[in-house]
Amino acid sequence: MTATLGDVLLETRHLKRYFRLDKHRQVHAVDDVCLSIQANEILGLVGESGSGKSTFGKTVLGLHDKTAGEVLYRGEVLPARYRSADFQRFARSMQMIFQDPYSSLNPRMTAGEIIAEGLRLHSDAKPRAVREEVARWLRQVGLSPDHASRYPHEFSGGQRQRIGIARAMIVEPEFVVCDEPISALDVSVQAQVINLLSELKREYGLTLLFIAHDLSMVRYVSDRMAVMYLGALAEIGPADDVFFRPMHPYTQMLVASNPEPDPITERQRSAEPIHGEITSPVNIGPGCRFAGRCPKVMDHCRHTTPELLPVRDLTSDATRQVACHLYG
Ligand code: SF4
Repeated sequence: MTATLGDVLLETRHLKRYFRLDKHRQVHAVDDVCLSIQANEILGLVGESGSGKSTFGKTVLGLHDKTAGEVLYRGEVLPARYRSADFQRFARSMQMIFQDPYSSLNPRMTAGEIIAEGLRLHSDAKPRAVREEVARWLRQVGLSPDHASRYPHEFSGGQRQRIGIARAMIVEPEFVVCDEPISALDVSVQAQVINLLSELKREYGLTLLFIAHDLSMVRYVSDRMAVMYLGALAEIGPADDVFFRPMHPYTQMLVASNPEPDPITERQRSAEPIHGEITSPVNIGPGCRFAGRCPKVMDHCRHTTPELLPVRDLTSDATRQVACHLYG
């Protein structure tokens, strides 16, 4: 089924993913996240390490069980816990590109076998058709069909990530979670991989959840940007608006600490250090989870959890949602 821009392809409703440490303690890795992703959209998800971005992406794809809440795909509620038949059913629609192209490829399989695996598992394509598709996808991601017989260690990091992209794309998914797809790569090849993803998005009408901690890169590729802090959304809106006019104090901190692309400007910049205590992600209670670090903290921030609510951005007509009592 083809989706058109504006259709909601994927939605999460109060999605939670907790990890139990012992009888009394749980890490709230993803905590009550509600968002929707439109078809043909790139939604960038940013936040510091440990903010729950990757766990969110994996929970959406069923790679982690959901603790509570729902994920809807084309309006259908997905199972809380996937069985193998569910993976079989949804794997052709939803795929993932992993962060580390070194550990995500089986070193004992050739590039051709790795790329073909999804097609073999999820279609009844004959061996010859599979070989032809593998050759086509190797070309499509900028490699050569001759590379099919080589093993992962014979490729550079950028080439391995291209194999990871071909592996995800060969089943022609509609929705792809890109989990920090460039953070393990040299700066010189990051732009090549980003351009490849943008081309594939245009050509195949993909919808992407692009997870990264590099704000400038996320702004560059994304239509909208969502900011996550300790498992919850702090702010979401059009990527340029969030980047150039951040509203949530945490987003303002992230933007201020984002390195300048120009090394001279970067050297002259005086980034304000962030003081304060990071809230523990274990058994998070009521109150704003950024209160311990927020320079604008107020008394009731420590007791009342701010909801993610629409906020009027006077310089733009687009909708922005912010979870902060300053705008309540
Ligand atoms: Fe800061 Fe309060 Fe807003 Fe939290 S709710 S970000 S503590 S001002």
